[in-house]
Amino acid sequence: MEEGLKVPANLTRRTFVCGMGAVTIMGGLSLAGCSPSKTKSSDKGDAYDIVIIGSGGAGLSAAIAAFDKGASKIVVLEKMPSTGGNTNFSSSGMNASETKFQKEQGIDDSNALFAEETLTGGHDTGDAELVSFMCNGSAGAIDWLDGLGITLNNITLTGGMSVKRCHRPTDGSAVGKTLIAGLVEAVKERKIEVRTNCDAKELVVDGGTVTGVKVEEKGKQSTLSAKAVIMATGGLGANQEMVTKYRPDLKGYVTTNQAGATGDGYAMSEAAGAELVQMDQIQIHPTVEQESSQLIAEGIRGGGAILVNAEGKRFIDEMKTRDKVSAAELEQPGGFAWEVFDQTVYDSNKAVANYDKAGLVKKGDDLAALASTIGVDAAALKATVDEYNAVTTSGAADQMGRTKGCIAFSDGAMYAIKVAPGIHHEMGGVRINTKNEALSADGKTIPGLYAAGEVTGGIHGNNRIGGNAVCDIIVFGKNVGEVVADTLSK
Ligand code: ADP
Repeated sequence: MEEGLKVPANLTRRTFVCGMGAVTIMGGLSLAGCSPSKTKSSDKGDAYDIVIIGSGGAGLSAAIAAFDKGASKIVVLEKMPSTGGNTNFSSSGMNASETKFQKEQGIDDSNALFAEETLTGGHDTGDAELVSFMCNGSAGAIDWLDGLGITLNNITLTGGMSVKRCHRPTDGSAVGKTLIAGLVEAVKERKIEVRTNCDAKELVVDGGTVTGVKVEEKGKQSTLSAKAVIMATGGLGANQEMVTKYRPDLKGYVTTNQAGATGDGYAMSEAAGAELVQMDQIQIHPTVEQESSQLIAEGIRGGGAILVNAEGKRFIDEMKTRDKVSAAELEQPGGFAWEVFDQTVYDSNKAVANYDKAGLVKKGDDLAALASTIGVDAAALKATVDEYNAVTTSGAADQMGRTKGCIAFSDGAMYAIKVAPGIHHEMGGVRINTKNEALSADGKTIPGLYAAGEVTGGIHGNNRIGGNAVCDIIVFGKNVGEVVADTLSK
């Protein structure tokens, strides 16, 4: 399995039968967890202390953290045949500040600056308390992952951030696969039970307290009882009906999301009394290859790539936030852009070779040849690249106002990927506090119900910065596991 590339799951997974259900692990890893952690409560189902719905970065982190804090009888439910959710496809990295890796590399950063830029990137519509909590916890989360063998010490820049704080695996590959492989391994070591092909349908609410989950497995329905339920079901991009319920204008957009991102967690939580906030804040990502719905990693722009329109002209500072770049792209002829880069960018982003293998990358032996391949006027493209190169060599001001990741193109082979916006991330969701407790509209907790990851709302406001989703899911995933374990131990 290659980083950042969508590959049909049936090509890459192995299935193991264990306990209650088939456990399937992405990327050829061995069985996640098979020792029975439940006790049989009745003929109808099983009794757990903690039921975690969703096996993406948030759900797996919650399971590991809860276990390490002394909790037992934990189960992770996954409706798909394999684990990892959209986290698997996370392409950039994990933003974090004041980390040991930044310090080692002489990068000066602060949690306060990270929080400020996150709030500014979200046009001050994010929840300042949740943002501070996330940023303050980010370095600890990087250390925690490192302790699990997931070392993110290759640091780059993403749009909207003024310092390098996007942490990637050592080889510069996309973060998702490394993260999920490491978290799955940690789940396996702890023998935490994972039930794949197990679709959570509804929360059981008893006198206002969430006490379990109704599930469907292989066509059979049962009820799992729980002292705490952690909703970690990710987003809704694969559910067109739900997308258009909140954003009618996004009808027909492609999505980068995997098939299990059907928004079930929003519906289940709302039915149990939780408030959903900012649900119309669905992020579209500016660099999605439209035939494959493959997201083209932001680090490629951070590494020097430019966007040109069908006339070979740049039209925006490529490092602006996703909402601005997407909007500018849609205004170009045909509503698309070519993401153009040289051999250096190709070589320094491992994901590019994978996009190439998938047939998404156009190549020319030089710029003129590339122009001919992509049907763009060669003189116009040359003028664009010459002008861009002048910014880096002469210190001239970039005509688009770009100040970050301006790296001159070298001579030689040139590449381009055709991109346009696609539905990427639901920034709204279940309202939570810094204990990851789900909250109702009047701010009251719903006993027994917690939420973490993309299913939650309010952190990113109306624009999420690249690299902040992974920070969110790890910081809050780890936190909710610890909070729930602490609460149950009292
Ligand atoms: P996050 O980044 O917040 O961890 P992901 O998208 O990575 O979110 O993971 C969420 C996981 O939850 C996905 O694997 C998805 O298939 C799974 N999921 C969504 N709805 C359900 C459901 N009703 N029952 C079980 N699993 C679900």
